[in-house]
Amino acid sequence: MEKYVRPEIIAMNGYVPGEQPESKQIIKLNTNENPYRASEKVYEAIRQTAELGLSRYPDPVAQAVRNVVSRKFNIDPDSVLCGNGSDDLLTILTRTFVGNGELLRLPYPTYILYQSLAEIQSANSERVPFNTDWTLPDTFFAAAPKLRLVFLPNPNSPSGTILPKTRILEIAENLPCPLVVDEAYADFAEEHCIDLVEKCDKIIVCRTLSKSYALAGLRFGYLVAAPKWVEQMLKVKDSYNCDSLAIAAAAAAIGDDGWLSENRKKILATRTRLTEQMRRLGFDVPTSYANFTWNSRKDRALKPVYEYLKNSGVLVRYMNYPKWGEGLRISVGTEEQINRCLDLIEKSL
Ligand SMILES: *Cc1c(COP(=O)(O)O)cnc(C)c1O
Repeated sequence: MEKYVRPEIIAMNGYVPGEQPESKQIIKLNTNENPYRASEKVYEAIRQTAELGLSRYPDPVAQAVRNVVSRKFNIDPDSVLCGNGSDDLLTILTRTFVGNGELLRLPYPTYILYQSLAEIQSANSERVPFNTDWTLPDTFFAAAPKLRLVFLPNPNSPSGTILPKTRILEIAENLPCPLVVDEAYADFAEEHCIDLVEKCDKIIVCRTLSKSYALAGLRFGYLVAAPKWVEQMLKVKDSYNCDSLAIAAAAAAIGDDGWLSENRKKILATRTRLTEQMRRLGFDVPTSYANFTWNSRKDRALKPVYEYLKNSGVLVRYMNYPKWGEGLRISVGTEEQINRCLDLIEKSL
C-alpha cells in the first residue's frame, strides 16, 4: 500500500486545524473566528445569486471582487488574485515559486500550515526564530542557496505582534526572492502593506475574509501582487477556484466598509480588556494587533488551565513550541464570552 504514496507525503505529519466541536454550546475561542454576524449585504448577495441559478460555471478570475478590491485600495485590478480562502492562495504561491528541493523560509513560531505546504511540494523549509521581543533578526533576509519564497504573517500568529512597514520593506528589498506578507489579521492592526506592492515588486500581500469579515465558513481570500506575478499564478490555480456564491458574497463584504469599521471597533475594545485582565492575572501578554492574544507565564503549567476551560465549555488554543515554550492563544470573542473565559481562568489559578 505505502509504496504507491509519495514518500514525502508519508513522512509528513499533516496540518491539523483547530478543533471544530459539534456542540453549539461551546464558547469557541480557539481559531480566531469573528464572534459577530457578517454584514447583511453578504446574505442578500448570496440570496440573489442563488436565485439566479447555479447551473453556470463561476467567473474564473472573480472579476467582481478584483474590481471592489481595486477601488478600496486604489490599485490595478490585474494585481489582485482571488482564492478559495487564503490557504488556497498560500498553496498557489508555493506551487508557483518553490520547486522540488528548493527552499521556503518562515519565521518561528508562526502559522504551521506554511511548513506543510513546503513538504507537499517536496521543498525544504527553514525556520528563522523570532527574537524574544518578537522582532526578526537580519538573518531573516539573508541570501541562501535555492531560497525561492519567504512567508511572513503580519500581524503574526500566535503572538499577535506586528513588524512595522518600514521593516517589511527593508526585509523585502534585501531578500533575493519574493516576500509573502500574510495579512490575515491586518484589519485589526493600525497599518498594512498593500501600498508597498507598487513600491517593491517582491512584496505579495495575502488577505482573508475569514477573520475580520466574519466569513470563515464562506472560504474566500485574495492577494495583491505585481500583475506579472499574478499572470503566472493564474496558470497554477484551479480553473474555478471560487464559486459564484462566494464571489458575490465577497464583493458585498469588501464593499461594506461601514460594517468592517464597526466590527473592528468592538473587537479592539474587547481585545484591550482581555489583554489588561490577563496581565492582571499574571500572564505575559504581548500587545496584540490581531483578534487574539498570546498568553504565557513561567510560574505554572498551562495545559491544566486549557483543560479546565475546555471541561467548562470554553475552548482556547493551547500551543507548545519546542524551545519557545507554551501558551494559550485566546480569540477575541464577544464581551460575554470573554467575561466567562476570564472568570474560569481566574478560578483555575
Ligand atoms: C486564519 C489564517 C489564514 C487562513 O485563512 P483562510 O482564508 O481561512 O484560509 C491564513 N494565514 C493566517 C496567518 C491565518 O491565521
